[in-house]
Amino acid sequence: MKTILITGGAGFIGSNFVKYIYKNYPDYRILVLDALTYAGNPDNLSEEIKKNNRFEFWYGDVQNSEIVNALVQQSDVVVHFAAETHVARSIYNNKQFYMTDVLGTHTITNAVLKNQKTIERFIHISTSEVYGTAEQWPMSEEHPLKPRSPYASAKTGADRLVYSYYTTYDLPVVIVRPFNNYGPSQHLEKVIPRFIANAMLDEPLTIHGDGSSKRDWIYVEDHCEALDKIIHADIDLVKGEVFNLGTGRSIDVLTIARMVLDELGKPESLIKYLNDRPGQVVEHIADTSKAEKILDWKYKTEFEDGLKKTIQWSQENQEMWKELLWMRTIPIVTASGEVQEH
Ligand code: NAD
Repeated sequence: MKTILITGGAGFIGSNFVKYIYKNYPDYRILVLDALTYAGNPDNLSEEIKKNNRFEFWYGDVQNSEIVNALVQQSDVVVHFAAETHVARSIYNNKQFYMTDVLGTHTITNAVLKNQKTIERFIHISTSEVYGTAEQWPMSEEHPLKPRSPYASAKTGADRLVYSYYTTYDLPVVIVRPFNNYGPSQHLEKVIPRFIANAMLDEPLTIHGDGSSKRDWIYVEDHCEALDKIIHADIDLVKGEVFNLGTGRSIDVLTIARMVLDELGKPESLIKYLNDRPGQVVEHIADTSKAEKILDWKYKTEFEDGLKKTIQWSQENQEMWKELLWMRTIPIVTASGEVQEH
């Protein structure tokens, strides 16, 4: 029996993780803290979960130390997902990224420090974006940190803040750096759900630059399994460690657009090209040997299979994403002052 505090549990990965813990650990108590920003949706969690008395939803901001302290005090494990997460939005308007991603993490980490005697472990969800573009193939946890967008820089601040609380106060922290996640309930502002929705609606699939930018794509359930391993690993093996979570395979965005169109039987003429996004990362590819060795974890879902499952989810849950269609793109002001829709 454990109590797990999950921040950002109404968002994409957080809600998949709540479902994962609810299903696999029937005696665990789950506390969710979420501010329900434009990216959070309580409908990402089922009625069954919401009505169960081992689940509690707390509406609130991760920067609010009172609510954060009250929840951390009751918890054995904290898994911190809450963040502003969209790279393009961080170019358009980024103060909130530093508030939530850096100061919100500061608030949570201080609450963990206050409750150091009772907290078993604190898992901070960082991101592969902290590395910037690949300078090594594949990219290990030792890759230099060269964030290229305001989002990535805020996440780098949070990542190093958490690490410094391990070196300074010996907090039981574990930092994970997931590569690009995809799967059910992802917001339409992100590329894979947007491609699927646009293809289903016979609308253009817009691509930044020539579509050659490559990412390492991890199916969200595989990410949840890695967090499960971290929660249940011997603390001495994981404390103060950083783990990449990815697949070791990188696929470019144009190939993904073609795969989506092919799967849905739509013509390639739907592909349209846009200017490249400022701060774009050229390539990401994960070295996951550390997670394989220490956590005995490896991704299970091949991209082709995960994409099919994600398309099926989009077909079966059209009412959920159709209300977000107006948020598919946002304006970015480039260095030259030009406004572009991305
Ligand atoms: P998301 O944008 O779908 O969800 C974020 C959630 O956080 C939402 O429910 C939102 O309401 C909540 N939130 C935002 N600000 C908050 C605040 N101030 N207080 C409380 N709650 C707040 O994000 P996601 O894609 O699920 O990402 C979750 C985490 O994983 C983030 O930390 C992100 O940086 C990291 N990550 C994501 C990916 C990816 O590909 N999606 C990859 C690597 C790392």
